[in-house]
Amino acid sequence: METMQQIVGQARAAFNSGRCRSLEFRMQQLKALERMVQEKEKEILAAIRADLHKCGPSAYSHEILGVLKELALAMDKLPSWAAPQPVKRDLLTMRDEAYVCPEPLGVVLIIGAWNYPFVLVMQPLIGAIAAGNAVVVKPSEICENTAQLVSDLLPQYLDQELYPVVTGGVPETTELLKQRFDHILYTGNSTVGKIVMAAAAKHLTPVTLELGGKSPCYIDKDCDLDVACRRITWGKYMNCGQTCIAPDYILCDPSIQSKVVENIKVTLQEFYGEDVKSSPDYERIVNKRHFKRILGLLDGQKIAHGGEADEASCFIAPTILIDVSPESKVMEEEIFGPVLPILTVKNVDEAIEFINRREKPLALYVFSNNKKLIKRVISETFSGGVTGNDVIMHFLLSTLPFGGVGNSGIGAYHGKHSFETFSHRRACLIRDLKMEVMHKLRYPPGSQKKVDWAKFFLLKRFNKGQIGLVIFALLGIVAAVVMIKNHQSVLKRKALLIVLAVQRLGWLSV
Ligand code: NAD
Repeated sequence: METMQQIVGQARAAFNSGRCRSLEFRMQQLKALERMVQEKEKEILAAIRADLHKCGPSAYSHEILGVLKELALAMDKLPSWAAPQPVKRDLLTMRDEAYVCPEPLGVVLIIGAWNYPFVLVMQPLIGAIAAGNAVVVKPSEICENTAQLVSDLLPQYLDQELYPVVTGGVPETTELLKQRFDHILYTGNSTVGKIVMAAAAKHLTPVTLELGGKSPCYIDKDCDLDVACRRITWGKYMNCGQTCIAPDYILCDPSIQSKVVENIKVTLQEFYGEDVKSSPDYERIVNKRHFKRILGLLDGQKIAHGGEADEASCFIAPTILIDVSPESKVMEEEIFGPVLPILTVKNVDEAIEFINRREKPLALYVFSNNKKLIKRVISETFSGGVTGNDVIMHFLLSTLPFGGVGNSGIGAYHGKHSFETFSHRRACLIRDLKMEVMHKLRYPPGSQKKVDWAKFFLLKRFNKGQIGLVIFALLGIVAAVVMIKNHQSVLKRKALLIVLAVQRLGWLSV
């Protein structure tokens, strides 16, 4: 068996060969990945079903659709994402070429989490390939069927040296993290996030940490509760509550608490029928450890709905808790299960204060008929992302960066943001060797006059008209100096050059 050092070494050698630098190659790999998802759809759905008890339609929309959408976007936009972007120049660099050029980072490591075992490795992989990197993929061992499938399939479709898959748990990941990478994107809990960041620090490797936390959901009294509760029920109980951006708890006025409960109950029946346990659309808790942890959160709570559980099948019914105390255990950690606590607050001010007293969440949700109130909550709180009048949806819009802030993560990805995460923005300036007279200012010996000119060039702010005038004035001065110093015929030639320069500069400043 190959060691981690060999796997990463091989990926680095393949990267150093330069073959993933060309856009054609990257496109070809993305196309192959698309073909893999299309051809192996059944196998992917079966693996997810075996790991998470998820039915085909849900698995397709949670895990495959997003991958195909991201692939289509990357293939469509790659030429424009990868193109050098010209930047504005100043008076000293007017004649130069100045641009930002995205370039690959090198060998990147992607570590996935179990709750969406396919999409959480595939989406970052797409961005990393598009950006021209070699990628080591490490899916979560907790969803072992999906991990094995990813490990079997990727080498059949992609360049085997550039994109190896490593399977395994803590020992394997620990060993992997000793290697040197050029970027690490980790998805999972913040305790392991700190381990990953510490390992990365040893090599000065930058990280993107996609973590979790308790995402609050505030419901205003002035709100269409029927619609709000249907959307909340969808986002809370999908994947049996095991979604990093699921609304973790509800904050609302005491006068609407019972209506919220009623609406959610009605929606649960609409979604999953009389007997949730036999609904094909309701998943299971991933393992016994999480099952016990979640049930433990119900101790001493007022259960308004649900609470039933079956250890053998890791089933926990959709559960609603009411009048929950902010000090209770269920409010201490991310729930990551189908349990929805409701806490009452007097008004929006108290809700904002409540949110701001805690760690910055990954997502924040606010429901109200009043857009001003939604904007106010946004402007007076912090979170990785926010959706007003819905849940989860900011995740699905790939023009928005997806990521946390503070305790909920570092960095972001999705769409072009993935490409940027896995690229270095290289600053490029190409000058020419002419007009040396203009450069004398920066050469020794120094003088106050030179400093004054430098201040004039670099600090003075002009509008476009003034810039034109300044250029003409400056060139006039240069021409006068040249006239005094040089012979008539030389003068003619220089004057001609100056006229040409004026034309070019005048054109550039418009
Ligand atoms: P997990 O147990 O699958 O762990 C994630 C990865 O870390 C796995 O690949 C695992 O092998 C590795 N790992 C575990 N322990 C390790 C160690 N000691 N050293 C090195 N590597 C180790 O997933 P999890 O952490 O239980 O995931 C759930 C958490 O992830 C929740 O907090 C959730 O909110 C968060 N999450 C965040 C996002 C996001 O996009 N921000 C998405 C999904 C999940």
